[in-house]
Parts: sequence; structure tokens; C-alpha cells
Amino acid sequence: MNFNISILCETCESQTNCRLGMSNREIQPLRFRCKSCGSPIDITMTPDFENVGMDIQVSGAKRIHAEKFEAEVNFVDLHLDFPVSFGEYVMGLTPFMQASMRIGHEAMQSHAFRVNYLNDVYSHGKEIKTIFTLYSNNKTDLFKEKVLAFLGSNMECETQLDQNRALYHAIERSFLPFAEPERNMDAVNLFTAELIEMEKNHKDALDDFFEEIISNGFLKNVQTDCLEIYPRIIDIELMLRPALFLDFDLAYEGNQVPYRVSAHEFTDVKDLYKDISEIINRALVLIAGINNIKKRGSHNLFLTGAGVPSNLHKFADYPLGKKLDYIDNCWYPIDGGVIDNHLRNSVAHYKAEYDEISQEVTYFPRREGMKQDRPENIFFLDFSRKILLSFRELHRLNHLTKCLFVYYYLRTLGEKGTPVDI
Ligand SMILES: [Zn+2]
Repeated sequence: MNFNISILCETCESQTNCRLGMSNREIQPLRFRCKSCGSPIDITMTPDFENVGMDIQVSGAKRIHAEKFEAEVNFVDLHLDFPVSFGEYVMGLTPFMQASMRIGHEAMQSHAFRVNYLNDVYSHGKEIKTIFTLYSNNKTDLFKEKVLAFLGSNMECETQLDQNRALYHAIERSFLPFAEPERNMDAVNLFTAELIEMEKNHKDALDDFFEEIISNGFLKNVQTDCLEIYPRIIDIELMLRPALFLDFDLAYEGNQVPYRVSAHEFTDVKDLYKDISEIINRALVLIAGINNIKKRGSHNLFLTGAGVPSNLHKFADYPLGKKLDYIDNCWYPIDGGVIDNHLRNSVAHYKAEYDEISQEVTYFPRREGMKQDRPENIFFLDFSRKILLSFRELHRLNHLTKCLFVYYYLRTLGEKGTPVDI
């Protein structure tokens, strides 16, 4: 269902005609910028599902009556669940229709399942965040109580091993809409197989590796850093809906046609992208350590050559772009497309500008002194897609920390596992 409304910008008094596509969400906050002056305009729709009505609140503009949508008047299509074209108003060609035409009925059903699930995740957001905080702060008794209530389970939750498992059950349940279940399963199988193989062939080296990453707190810190990202993903679930849609829109890739994201803006999320990249950067230390054990029998032994780190501790300080050069023939397939060093550096160093009206990000990745004349561009939709893909990589690497902890609790501390761990 769609609602057509017209508004006058409070700042410049320009008229905009808006077609509001209805999502299946309790409250639907939409945001766009006035095409004439760039001022933010927020429209919040609150459906009354029982009476099939809709409460529409506008801020930054006032509603006016218009008989019909004239071609020369500013126009926006808005929908939370899909990328929406910036084009002219065409009657009947609603965001939902356009989306269906792009991906087909079956994929629309899958997308609908995921965004409906997100409504549920959002409504449990506070509960999920509390579980992560309690786990990270070692508040064991409260963690057990809250996580079991959330899971509706009476699973074992006494040992560290059990609590680790309960935590990851909660993560899997909460973040299902973002997950790629097969790739995650493949990654976990790979981590487990590598640990078994290293225990068989390099037991002493593996023990040394654990001794270092446990005693200096590195493994726990990486896990805690990962856990801090998940709640921030819940906070921007609205922005990620169009990015999730692109999982099904195979024709989109490389298509430089701008599409609108109807909630949030670049400035709301640029730090999140930077932070996810930074945590992936740290998790690469674990990948490199395992690579060194497998290839050379010690986590500290890198391939020899110029500029090579003398040990894993030194490697941890290398910048992201450089780290990949020193992991030779890596056992773990790092998704190279996820690590966009140019974009990450530009975002981190305030060398990115955002046009709120066109939703285009212009960034300056090169060292050019005081000049900035070799820009690169990315649309906000593509940027939000990068956040989604880098979050998925972080999620997989978080499973590596899980598997390492399972090994440590079982094999080093000798905790008794349930059959599912062994
Ligand atoms: Zn305006």
C-alpha cells in the first residue's frame, strides 16, 4: 500500500510530492533532503493495522493539499525495505512494484521474511544488547539468567564452555536476517578442522599461541570488540534493509544508477564502517598466527623478506593494507572486496564529503598535500552495502574467536563438554 502526500519545506517553501510505501513495521521513520535547499525532512508513518489506517507525522515541512502530482514539482519515492529510484513520478510504478520487477516473486518473499524478522530483532534490541554487555563484563549469573530467558531454553549454562555456546546461540538467533548460513557453517567447519589438524601436527606451537593470546588478553579483547558491533547493527537495521535487498538483485552489481536509502545518512554510520574495518584488522592477527603455525611451526614465524614483522606482536601494529602482504598463501579466504582501504582511510581522516540530496559520497583516498583533486565516488546505498558485507566478515571472524575459546576451554582447561562441543 502507498500514500501520496504533498509537503512544503519549512526552510525554502519548495513543494515536494512524496509517495510513501508502507512497510510491515510498527513505526516507520523516513528521512530525505529537500531537493531545493538540502534541509532534512522527516516523515514518520505509524500504521493502525486493525483499522487499516495510517498516522503520518511530518517534521521540517508542512503538509498541503495537492490535487495531483505535477511533473515539474520535486518528487520522492520512499520505502524502508527497498532501494528506491530517484526518478520521476510514474503512477503505479511504486517502489514495491519496481523491486518485484527486479528480483521476482520468490526472492521478494525471502526478503520479506528477513525484514519482518528485523522488526522482531528491533523490538528485542535492548534485551540482546544487555546479554552482550553482561557476557563481556563477566557478570556470569545475570548473563545466564538473561540469555536462557531470551533463548527460551534450559540448556546447560554452568561452565565457560556452556556460556560461550549460549552466547553464540543468541547471536545466531538475533542476527539471522544478516547471516549467510552456508558460508558461516563452512567457516566454522574450517576453523574446527584446522584446530584439530594443528593439535595433531603442531601441538607445542598451538599451546604457545594460546599461551600468548590468552595471557595478554588479546583473544578476549577481539571477542569483546566484535560483541560491541552487533548492537550498533541493530541500531541501523533500517538503513541495512535496502542493502539486504541487493543480495537478490543480481543485476545491480556495478550498476551506477543511484538508488535512495530512505532512512539514516552517511554521517550516522561512517564511524561504524571505520570501526568494523579496525576490528577485522585486529582479527587478522589470529589468522596470521594460525597461518604461521601451519606453514612454519610457530605463530611468530613469518615468511622471510624485507619489512617482515619479527613476531606476531609486531605484526599486530601493521596497518590493515600492509597486513595482507605478510599472510602468505592464507588458509582462510579473506573476502578482499570487504577491505576497502582507500574508503576506510578517507572516512577515518575526514577526507569524505556527503551530498545529502543525491546521497553521493565523494572521498579523497590519495595523499595530495593540500589539494583534493582526485576524488572517488560511492553512493550511500553502496556504502551501506559495504557495511553489511564487512559486518558479515566480522561475524565470521567472531566465530573464529568462538572456536578458539572452545578449544581452549576443552583442551587447555579441561572443561567437560557436552557432545555438541566435542
Ligand atoms: Zn527546502
